[in-house]
Amino acid sequence: MTQIIDGKKISQEIKEEVKAKVEALQAKGIVRTLAVIQVGNDPASAVYVNNKKKACAYVGIRSLSYELAEETTQEELLALIGELNQREDVDGILVQLPLPKHIDEDRVLLAISPEKDVDGFHPMNVGNLSIGRPGYVSCTPAGIIELLKRSGIAIEGKECVVLGRSNIVGKPMAMLLLRENGTVTVCHSRTKDVKEITRRADILVVAVGKPMLVDETYVKEGAVVIDVGIHRDAANRLCGDVNFERVAPHCTAITPVPGGVGPMTIAMLMKNCAEGCR
Ligand code: NAP
Repeated sequence: MTQIIDGKKISQEIKEEVKAKVEALQAKGIVRTLAVIQVGNDPASAVYVNNKKKACAYVGIRSLSYELAEETTQEELLALIGELNQREDVDGILVQLPLPKHIDEDRVLLAISPEKDVDGFHPMNVGNLSIGRPGYVSCTPAGIIELLKRSGIAIEGKECVVLGRSNIVGKPMAMLLLRENGTVTVCHSRTKDVKEITRRADILVVAVGKPMLVDETYVKEGAVVIDVGIHRDAANRLCGDVNFERVAPHCTAITPVPGGVGPMTIAMLMKNCAEGCR
């Protein structure tokens, strides 16, 4: 029978572990603080920011909220980040993406001190991941490794295929699977005969951003399939990049949408904040 990987349950376990860690730090007089910056009023971003603040409150991390107007200039945002970088009482800085068009995202991510870059997007942390040094790791792919490990799925020696090569999911995912001794192939929009490659995968991670693109013709019998995508279908229900109904019967294990990868991202953000670099 196909194992449905329960991201809700696993993310809750991680949040409980983080809560215990934060309490232990508090007992020693150490308070972890996350600064969350949102620029503009994008409704989806507001929901994400609110969920992050709620998670902080749950695990006992202090959150500082900066809700900046849409017309905030790049210089003003960089000045705030500079100030937060200097503050001894701030452990993590998170800038909610996307930013308004007049602000250069790369410039902003580069301005966050790598020691406070709890999203793991700074080139220094990306570089550390690729050469096997410690540092913050992008939360969604780090959460996928936790999902696999805590579901008893071994990575070592497995054929791992990552569909998608974005900087926040696909590429760090590939580096993490490699770190776990998987044999990793990355596919993207220019890959020839994608299905021939994905059908070799023991573990297939799908992060293409295309609703229900992956059906059973992409999947080897008995594979583990991890679906990173989040979309709304025509009936306004949440769905992923994988056609769950058609793929699940062919898998050993699969993540659903919702309730798979999604809840892991915030749990891993909390873990990053609690561990901190200080
Ligand atoms: P993205 O930046 O749009 O990247 C998509 C990647 O998929 C690109 O590398 C693209 O190739 C590749 N691709 C597109 N169509 C393809 C096809 N037909 N065959 C093979 N490769 C194809 O997306 P992302 O930021 O990685 O996000 C992917 C999905 O995950 C989205 O649905 C997003 O909403 C979701 N997401 C969820 C979470 C979470 O917490 N659960 C977090 C982040 C993202 P090229 O590079 O050649 O263009």
